[in-house]
Amino acid sequence: MEINWQKEVESRKEALLEDLFTILKIDSVRDDAKATKEMPVGPGPKEALEAFLEIGKRDGFLTKNVGNLAGHIEYGEGEELMGVFGHVDVVPTGSGWDTDPFEPIIKEERVYARGSSDDKGPSMAAYYAIKIIRDLGLPVSKRVRMIIGTDEESGWQCMDHYLANEELPSFGFSPDADFPIINGEKGNTSLYVRFRSDVAGGKNQLVSFDAGLRENMVPQDATAIFTSQEAERIEADFFTFIENNPVTGTIETEGEKITIELVGKSSHGMNPSAGINAGTYLATFLNQYSFGGDAATFFQLISEMIHMEHGANKLGLAHTDEIMGELTMNAGIFTFTPEEGGLVALNFRYPTGVTEEGLEIKLETALHHFGVTIEKGGHGKLPHYVPADDPLVSTLLAVYEKHTGVKGKERSIGGGTYGRLLERGVAYGALFPDSIDTMHQANEFLALDDLFRATAIYADAIYELIK
Ligand code: ZN
Ligand code: ZN
Repeated sequence: MEINWQKEVESRKEALLEDLFTILKIDSVRDDAKATKEMPVGPGPKEALEAFLEIGKRDGFLTKNVGNLAGHIEYGEGEELMGVFGHVDVVPTGSGWDTDPFEPIIKEERVYARGSSDDKGPSMAAYYAIKIIRDLGLPVSKRVRMIIGTDEESGWQCMDHYLANEELPSFGFSPDADFPIINGEKGNTSLYVRFRSDVAGGKNQLVSFDAGLRENMVPQDATAIFTSQEAERIEADFFTFIENNPVTGTIETEGEKITIELVGKSSHGMNPSAGINAGTYLATFLNQYSFGGDAATFFQLISEMIHMEHGANKLGLAHTDEIMGELTMNAGIFTFTPEEGGLVALNFRYPTGVTEEGLEIKLETALHHFGVTIEKGGHGKLPHYVPADDPLVSTLLAVYEKHTGVKGKERSIGGGTYGRLLERGVAYGALFPDSIDTMHQANEFLALDDLFRATAIYADAIYELIK
């Protein structure tokens, strides 16, 4: 029997939008200040979870709230369980919105609201996909669970809690990234380079150096404060430097004290070449002057070994895997004071063929002669890959191709999605290659056409996988 999935979605458009609006109206930003035992990540995420489960209950599905952190809506029968992992928490709204981020509005065939594309819209699309399969009474041999998390944007404690207490699905996907598919995710680990604190000697004495907010972001701003005996020369050089490099900035001189602020461009740390690292540019500028002791080492190391080294070539860490692509390095945080010494936080996204231990040993070897020490960052994540010939991947790609006419290829990224929760887990939509990505931005939207296309694809795909 050939099912016209598009037509099935067509007849449910209004109901889908109404349910989506209900969820979008809930401010579900994690709020630790209001967190309690009953609301582990605050009232908003819990309320959004309850509202979503309520929709499932209303439609006659089996639902379960798991500790107010996650929950599921189940359909089907059989031993095997498929998981579809979405989330209802959202990132803070930030500034720059033209409309109320929690008052969804349709303009120019787009739904504008925080969470419309990440991830309330795609989650609702996946839910309606399951509902269509159920409504049509199609025969299925497996169960499927729409699993809803409330802490995806922060610590993932929702899924830690869920998977520790509930049945583990044997395969599944997360509608929280891009079509056609993301079946590989690089490993993620950070290493810290520490410098001693001696700044004596030289014509310039460093007072402080600061750049970057997070290990996984390219630093947009960098600031250096130092005293100098060559202020005039540095000032003149600075303007030439700004002219010749893709940065802007200011320099202020007060007697012997100089303050330089440099502005680059932020970007996600998994894609460092898309950003302009203000920290490495400023260190490179200062490296041409005579600084004392460890400050000199700090600038020299950054300038020679890290600046523009997104593949960590000079550090001897470069590695490319045929399928998962190349290792990338982001220098996300820089600090130096004469009291604490210096720190550079390096975040690596690495394919299979590289290990955390290997990275640490090689980095130590490469930087040994600078007299620095290497320290492990927090908890890393290992690479995750589901082979292209796994029926999960081939089915999802075939369905995508059938609906779009575009051949889908396997793809690995540097970021982490819920796909990695399962050994046979991937991310699948709902952003199409030609959609505008507004996730985490002001005026976030989801095109109605994308929402409905994704729903049809999800329905077809889930049916193929549980029939
Ligand atoms: Zn998301
Ligand atoms: Zn997100």
